[in-house]
Amino acid sequence: MNELIKKAEKTHNLSKDELVALLKNDSLDQEIFDAANRVRKKYVGDEVHLRGLIEFSNICRQNCLYCGLRRDNDKITRYRLEIDKAIEFAEKASSYGYKTVVLQSGEDSFYTVDKVKYLIGKIKSLDLALTLSIGEKTREEYEEYREAGADRYLLRIETTDRKLYEKLNPNMSFDNRVKCLKDIKELGYELGTGCMVGLPEQSIESLADDILFFKEMRADMIGIGPFIPNHNTPLSDSKGGTFEISLKVMALTRLILPDINIPATTAMETLNPKGRLIALQSGANVAMPNVTEGEYRKYYELYQGKICVNDTPAHCRSCITGKINSIGRIVSEEYGFRKKSCSCDCTSGGCCGDC
Ligand code: SAH
Ligand code: SF4
Repeated sequence: MNELIKKAEKTHNLSKDELVALLKNDSLDQEIFDAANRVRKKYVGDEVHLRGLIEFSNICRQNCLYCGLRRDNDKITRYRLEIDKAIEFAEKASSYGYKTVVLQSGEDSFYTVDKVKYLIGKIKSLDLALTLSIGEKTREEYEEYREAGADRYLLRIETTDRKLYEKLNPNMSFDNRVKCLKDIKELGYELGTGCMVGLPEQSIESLADDILFFKEMRADMIGIGPFIPNHNTPLSDSKGGTFEISLKVMALTRLILPDINIPATTAMETLNPKGRLIALQSGANVAMPNVTEGEYRKYYELYQGKICVNDTPAHCRSCITGKINSIGRIVSEEYGFRKKSCSCDCTSGGCCGDC
């Protein structure tokens, strides 16, 4: 088993069976985390990129079974920010030193293409890199947002188990999700995707497929977090994912995709008070502190127990900086685009397609 970890650290290539073997055996987890930490240091260094997260609407037309923002949840206080408010939050994020903001929301049709383009233009004029995470759109819409200046797009595949995906996402199609990801990549965005770990009926084999899918999609960033059951959803009685297995999927992703950006996700810290720091020492190189202000944070309730809901953006910024420095790492002052360093073995036919 140790040989497999060495192979992954050296070649960044593992087969599905090899990934499954590592995922099923928990006696060498620390070795996997340490190897992922070395690969992270070698390929992307000690800098941690901060992305300021603006949760601008919790209104959603979709009904994903796992998510607190789902259409049929009537136990949540809904809000949508005025465009000017979202711009104000971005300005403040810039004043705290963020170089990137992430605009995230439910699939809320109030924000028409023109409104989103206006928002993108305003945020880009602040000299910020911009990530959109606003769900499934048509290729034409993705194109308009890209032309308006959006740099990155975050859309998790959630799970590559097609049947499970379609069970958990009523009226959504797995094929369309994949098409969206391909459109986003082709349009020149940095592509972010990822999965939840611990969904009901999710197999270890499918988690291995998820990691291989990230590679096949040539993703530039991958967000992985545990599924945390939300009381106000049909999955309220599920067990949910554990911190350890989520961390392991994340660390294996670093071994296979050595130069991508990987956030230490909020959901990790929800399950373990040191979750983000441990993730940063097991392969992650990005953190996404919340820059949404006031009551809104609390209402953006994907799941209960979300961290920092009563904190201010200024507090979050200094808190995360302190944590990052405490483990000998530094906050990057750059935009944090992926710096590709092709790690494939082109001559033996194992080309990653990214070089
Ligand atoms: N509507 C957009 C973005 C908001 S949801 C979209 O769906 O892409 C952002 C992410 O939250 C989702 O991709 C999902 O992976 C995560 N999420 C939703 N409910 C969750 C839960 N109960 N536990 C953990 N993560 C959850
Ligand atoms: Fe809406 Fe995204 Fe939640 Fe699905 S995961 S219900 S699309 S906010």
